Amino acid sequence: MLTENLGVNSAGHLTIGGVDTVNLAKEYGTPLYVMDEDLLRANCRKFKKSIDDYYDGEGLVCYASKVFCCRAVCKIAIEEKIGLDVASEGELYTAISVGFPMDKICFHGNNKTDDELTLALSHGVGHIIVDNITELERLDRIARKIHKKANIMFRVKPGIDAHTHSFIQTGQIDSKFGLALETGEAFEAVKTAISLENVNLKGLHCHIGSQIFEIEPFELAAKVMLEFIAKIKNELGFEIRELDLGGGFGIKYLEEHNPPEYDEYMKRVSVVVNRECKALGINRPFILIEPGRSIAGPAGITLYTAGAVKTIPNIRTYVSVNGGMTDNPRYILYQAEYEALVANKANEEKTERVTLAGKCCESGDLIGENMPIQKVEPGDIIAVLATGAYNYSMSSNYNRVPKPPVVMVKGGKTRVAVKRETLEDIIRNDVV
Ligand SMILES: *Cc1c(COP(=O)(O)O)cnc(C)c1O
Repeated sequence: MLTENLGVNSAGHLTIGGVDTVNLAKEYGTPLYVMDEDLLRANCRKFKKSIDDYYDGEGLVCYASKVFCCRAVCKIAIEEKIGLDVASEGELYTAISVGFPMDKICFHGNNKTDDELTLALSHGVGHIIVDNITELERLDRIARKIHKKANIMFRVKPGIDAHTHSFIQTGQIDSKFGLALETGEAFEAVKTAISLENVNLKGLHCHIGSQIFEIEPFELAAKVMLEFIAKIKNELGFEIRELDLGGGFGIKYLEEHNPPEYDEYMKRVSVVVNRECKALGINRPFILIEPGRSIAGPAGITLYTAGAVKTIPNIRTYVSVNGGMTDNPRYILYQAEYEALVANKANEEKTERVTLAGKCCESGDLIGENMPIQKVEPGDIIAVLATGAYNYSMSSNYNRVPKPPVVMVKGGKTRVAVKRETLEDIIRNDVV
């Protein structure tokens, strides 16, 4: 199986965290998001442990909540003693609603509104990641008005493109996020921040991409950022005390994917951090990391019920499911690939190749093409694997399809973390 928490029971049914998925589909209906809370928590602990092991505990894991955000997961993050990345009022509000410790929150975004900055400041968010000079000046103004001091980091573009296999200075300067290093833009922003009264510049942040399988770009990013910290110290006499190295660790979506262990990323980057700090003569900053997909992705699956099976001779077989781009828009967005199987025939061979289609009025509404799977009949339960990240959080109500619920599995027991939307929810905000 794709992840170690999945199995097959004596009935030949797929299990997640030891729980029969066919029973889950019966009890809660489909489509259904299932999250293995034990694996989610284990992933939080893995990252937390690596901070303890490699940085003497002088760091913080901030779960990037955009990958899967709801009150239950924010509560889990509190219990696991990790921090949280938020990138909107909605995500921040969700965290506030469960009493999240605000000093452990990083607030991101390339165009935060005045309302968002005010909400963050008034609740004392510990790290506001400032994206640009306009935002810096706006934040300073708002902070002055409400008599607060903003604790900030700058988002820096380290000039590393992790997706081209050439890890050096490339077109990465062409990004809507952050301040460029090589043009001097980031350095100017640091100078301005130091001069402003209502901001407290604590750190620098970078995030080089997502679903990255190589470790070198992370090592290189850490090196570039530490060199910048040394330059700031040497030329401005100012000490940057925090370094946020972002997220982006790759996960296994397909059997043939072979990402490094989380610990391997952390270990190798820590070697660079410790070595460079010594070589550059700077104190090692407090290290933040922001894993998202790597915490939630492998922990989730989606269950559907198969409807029509339509074979077009010599072309392909379409299997339609009772969900689609509304609960998983990642295929239509960027042809993301997933593994699927028939949950009630999990012990049978995958003898077919099919296109899993959604039920929306878009030809591109697919879960995947050419997917190996067992022979599918109408009424079968289809499981799509590793959907814990960027699925529920990216879901929509296109075609006025209600969003599926999220059920958490923990220690063999289940609970609803997000209720299924009802038709009443669909018309809730309509005015006639
Ligand atoms: C999306 C994002 C992350 C998490 O990325 P993953 O690839 O899901 O680990 C971390 N930090 C920032 C700033 C992000 O935008």
